[in-house]
Amino acid sequence: MPVRLLRSATVGWRPLAAAAGSSVAARRPESASSSAPTGRSENDRGRMVRIEQDILGRNDRLAQANRRWLAEHGIFALNLVSSPGSGKTSLLCRTVRALAGEGSVAVIVGDQQTEFDAERIRDSGARALQINTGKGCHLDAAMVGRALPVLAPADDSLLLIENVGNLVCPAAFDLGEAHKVVILSVTEGEDKPLKYPDMFAAAELMLLNKVDLLPHLCFDVARAEAFARRVNHRLQVIRVSATSGEGMDRWLAWLRRGQAQAADARAAAAAETDRHRRRSGWRPT
Ligand code: MG
Ligand code: ZN
Repeated sequence: MPVRLLRSATVGWRPLAAAAGSSVAARRPESASSSAPTGRSENDRGRMVRIEQDILGRNDRLAQANRRWLAEHGIFALNLVSSPGSGKTSLLCRTVRALAGEGSVAVIVGDQQTEFDAERIRDSGARALQINTGKGCHLDAAMVGRALPVLAPADDSLLLIENVGNLVCPAAFDLGEAHKVVILSVTEGEDKPLKYPDMFAAAELMLLNKVDLLPHLCFDVARAEAFARRVNHRLQVIRVSATSGEGMDRWLAWLRRGQAQAADARAAAAAETDRHRRRSGWRPT
């Protein structure tokens, strides 16, 4: 079963870093006794930085391969990131239901454990593939690269990737998406954009979710949006509620624009390849 294969092939951040760290210790047995009171020596710190760079460098190469594959198929892919409990899955379910009959939507869902979210999304009418990251706290490009041929999204379709609920390291891991979309709910702190600036800086769009609850809270929307724009002045913001449906029309319009652009780019690239082949006298065999 492909889903099980994917699960067993999961590579998390932690096991890799831990394995690399232990091999460092094995090769340099003197490091424990010679290290400064602060813990690691300069040498070890340099090595740790290199290991991190290697992991991120490898991830970036795989993300570029995903991006090429998605572009060739005209697929508009989004990486949805947030804290746990921001309402990502409910928003995805409502989005899937609203887009029913408009061409296909496929979803990749990342969670440490369980298949619950993928089941909810399937119930809404989209094909969904769950990736369990185990101890891993984010999706990486390798996991998405393995999921793509299994899920096989249709040409010119929409692919929504729900990342593991975590505002920290998903910011550093490119999956090959067109954009990151960060979801902040009004039940969280207004200052989250300042506390976790990397994620808000990396995002193209912020969905401010659960706005139907505003009458019951003292959440200052203007303040939250100002904080978000302080770390990313280009950030677009849409206020939504997956419960009441408020703002869904703007979010759906944003999705449709992106999807149309991805499809147009694929058609243009295909036409260009065709022209090139005809000029060079290429004939199908
Ligand atoms: Mg979820
Ligand atoms: Zn992580």
